[in-house]
Amino acid sequence: MGSFLAKNQIRETCAICEQTKTAGIHLYTSFICTDCETIMIKTETSDPQYKYYVEKLRKVTRPGIYS
Ligand SMILES: [Zn+2]
Repeated sequence: MGSFLAKNQIRETCAICEQTKTAGIHLYTSFICTDCETIMIKTETSDPQYKYYVEKLRKVTRPGIYS
């Protein structure tokens, strides 16, 4: 178990694809990897895949939805 906590070396679980990645952004309390961020930016709003990401993001941005 390493204490390898240098910047950009921290592995976190992406809130969208649920994979463990080292590179990404933080949105509220969640982590979104650069892959998903790029896909979201590139995806047209008319694309069915866009809805999938929006639904995932909604859970990220509204953590208290079930309370
Ligand atoms: Zn991801």
